[in-house]
Amino acid sequence: VKWVYTFGDGKAEGSARDVALLGGKGANLAEMASLGLPVPPGLTVTTEACNWFYNNGRVLPPGLQEEVLKGIAGMEAITGRRFGDAGRPLLLSVRSGARASMPGMMDTVLNLGLNDDSVQALGHDAGDARFAWDSYRRFIQMYSNVVLGLDHELFEEILEDEKNRLGHEFDTDLTAVEWQHVVSLYKEMLEEELGEPFPQEPHEQLWGAVSGVFSSWMNARAVTYRMLHNIPEAWGTAVNIQAMVFGNLGTSSATGVAFTRNPSTGEKTLYGEFLVNAQGEDVVAGIRTPQSITEEGRIASGSERPSMEKLMPQTFAAFREICDRLEAHYRDVQDVEFTIERGKLWMLQTRSAKRTTRAAMKVAVDMVAEGLITREEAIARIEPSSLDQLLHPTIDPKAGRDVIGSGLPASPGAATGEIVFTAEEAVAAEAEGRKVILVRIETSPEDIHGMHVAEGILTTRGGMTSHAAVVARGMGIPCVVGAGTMRVDLRNGRLIGMGMTLEKGDVITIDGSSGQVLAGRVAMLQPELSGDFGRLMEWADGLRRMDIRTNADTPSDARAARSFGAEGIGLCRTEHMFFDGGRIHVMREMILAEDEKGRRAALDRLLPMQRQDFTELFAIMHGLPVTIRLLDPPLHEFLPKTGKETREVAAAMGMDEAVLGQRLDALHEFNPMLGLRGCRLAIAYPEIAEMQARAIFQAAVEAARETGAAVVPEIMVPLVGLRSEIDYVKGVIDRVAQEVTGEAGLRIDYLVGTMIELPRAALQAHAIAEAAEFFSFGTNDLTQTTFGISRDDAARFMTIYQRKGIVDHDPFVSLDFDGVGELMEIAATRGRRTRPKMKIGICGEHGGDPVSIRFCENIGLDYVSCSPFRVPIARLAAAQATI
Ligand code: ADP
Ligand code: MG
Ligand code: MG
Repeated sequence: VKWVYTFGDGKAEGSARDVALLGGKGANLAEMASLGLPVPPGLTVTTEACNWFYNNGRVLPPGLQEEVLKGIAGMEAITGRRFGDAGRPLLLSVRSGARASMPGMMDTVLNLGLNDDSVQALGHDAGDARFAWDSYRRFIQMYSNVVLGLDHELFEEILEDEKNRLGHEFDTDLTAVEWQHVVSLYKEMLEEELGEPFPQEPHEQLWGAVSGVFSSWMNARAVTYRMLHNIPEAWGTAVNIQAMVFGNLGTSSATGVAFTRNPSTGEKTLYGEFLVNAQGEDVVAGIRTPQSITEEGRIASGSERPSMEKLMPQTFAAFREICDRLEAHYRDVQDVEFTIERGKLWMLQTRSAKRTTRAAMKVAVDMVAEGLITREEAIARIEPSSLDQLLHPTIDPKAGRDVIGSGLPASPGAATGEIVFTAEEAVAAEAEGRKVILVRIETSPEDIHGMHVAEGILTTRGGMTSHAAVVARGMGIPCVVGAGTMRVDLRNGRLIGMGMTLEKGDVITIDGSSGQVLAGRVAMLQPELSGDFGRLMEWADGLRRMDIRTNADTPSDARAARSFGAEGIGLCRTEHMFFDGGRIHVMREMILAEDEKGRRAALDRLLPMQRQDFTELFAIMHGLPVTIRLLDPPLHEFLPKTGKETREVAAAMGMDEAVLGQRLDALHEFNPMLGLRGCRLAIAYPEIAEMQARAIFQAAVEAARETGAAVVPEIMVPLVGLRSEIDYVKGVIDRVAQEVTGEAGLRIDYLVGTMIELPRAALQAHAIAEAAEFFSFGTNDLTQTTFGISRDDAARFMTIYQRKGIVDHDPFVSLDFDGVGELMEIAATRGRRTRPKMKIGICGEHGGDPVSIRFCENIGLDYVSCSPFRVPIARLAAAQATI
């Protein structure tokens, strides 16, 4: 095996393509060297060596040392210095560098090779003893930390004491003699702590540092970072050994970092900071305040201290040119690290810059205009789920924040409103045109109507997958959950946080992007959906094959979805329409009625309400397809749950409490999600389906007359498993269609289709397709029924499953391709065997998940349908899926 790849002097054995083997830093150092950029010569020890190290009890692989020494010989030839030499010593940096960037998570040792002799030689050679002792003290500290395991603080304490004693403010104020004294104090402390002196032999130092950097792959910080960013442990880190260049060689030397464009706005201006007479991490460590590299940046920051542009114009010009070259070469914004040694510029690192979503958009659009990248590449570079940040109002960064608590940022965006503590209060306030924040300890399905009208939701309990979090994200409502330091005092109608007591009606602001809760009203920035965002979306629309529809039950959802570019409604859940206001009472009457006659009486009263809902939706969607699903949930969801509620309902309905109790018992189901629901309802009580079909067709007639835009309602039958089920329900719908169109004297085109959400339906798709004119995958239920896992109970063990590696992701969030996906493929293929041109879509939560959207593209679905705020995400993801 080859463990070592060298670079330097315009040549390199590796290149940017070797990121897996050489790590990002090593691969890009090689690439820069090949480009002829000024890179100190060096070598990269591969990530394979790191894996060997861990698989063999943390020792270096055989043959590695020879290869490294050979590489160092090459560096000696280029620099004219010798490692371990007492005359002109070659000093080395030993740097970590994994495949994925893990900024600051692992360790680096600088100035390696220094000892009590070579420190003298270095000072002599450079004509600067202060510099040599400054380098030595840095080396001792870093080496002791990374390799010998001593805390930084032990060293910092000593230095602080010395600075105080000498009356110095900055490290740069110390003289050679003073640094020499600090070094002797360091060595004393170290020997006391470890019982051994600081290692003087350069080769011993070198192997220690290489092992130390490998070991840093497993330090607590790195392990946590990998977990948070899904970086496999098996990737390992490379080690880069490189000739040192010195930014601490006096006032013509410096070190800095820069972005080739502004990483927060995306503006095309070089952006960065540097420090004169400094080394390594000084810029980020906050020891001194760094200076801006450009004049423009200096002016913008209001700083008096000169920019690099002003201070070192020639070096700056060279630097700017290199930045331009790097950007053109990599065709992306670069984040670079550099050092200037006595006026000579050295490049030490380059990588693609991390950036905000807004910056990512601007850069992508600008680079297309500059001819650097294609539209496809621009589209591919935006992470779809990051768009979420752009679609909601955000708190003006310039506004003051009066923080009264904080929780988890469960659903992005900021919202302001009056505090209410119950869903009913929320609904009542909204009816009066007031804006509210619904504050609960936690939420449950009964709170849905209140959540829907709230500007934002705050809970003091629960996590990122709690009911409040999931529902709010679906609705696109800003939400903070689990604000544990705050207390809801329901009895007295109070919210208490940070010693502040707020009452119902007091105004608060929540920031669902940061998790903060603020007192009062705060200035907001409105989302900007035109400009770069609009342009990118346009390109995405031009590219994608699938349509994007939305799941919308209310006019406000439908409107929001249209403004985000939805091309129709893929799922309108009619049951949500029955929770609102007075309707729930009529609905209960219907459910509790003794017989068909009683049910029909209640249904007659529901008909005009339901018709009104559809008329509005049809008007908003203006000729775009609207898929309406017949009543789906088990009826008990509409019924009173507590004794108190039951008493109230009995009183309202003029029913005997005991009789009501008996009816409730009779309706009880052991397993309602697998019980009397879906098309089973329409078969048991066809009058319900009749009413819904009548409302749909009457609304379609009305819409056709009023708007002139032809509406083609798509009526969707839920939970079909048998061909005979869809036959029966379709019979009911067709009969009503004839009646309504006959009465109106108007032809209405419509489709009757089915959800595919049971494995049997997927397998029997060819038979079901004889009756069904379209399919829509209800992947929430299909996942539930394929796995036999109840979605409402999954949270309890799904996290355990993930932690123990039983599943690598939650199948309710991202489609399970192997099982659920195979059923989908089977259903699509068999369905189209019967009905080749059949429209097939998806309307489960997965319809807004980018990875699942790619799968839908691959199996040839016609559309995906998702919640309104995910529409732009789906547009982008569907475009990416075609690339
Ligand atoms: P990180 O991955 O944490 O950024 P690096 O390996 O990039 O760690 O090292 C941190 C800093 O050390 C660099 O930004 C640079 O300032 C300094 N450094 C690294 N190698 C050298 C070198 N060969 N010469 C001078 N400074 C170096
Ligand atoms: Mg770095
Ligand atoms: Mg379903």
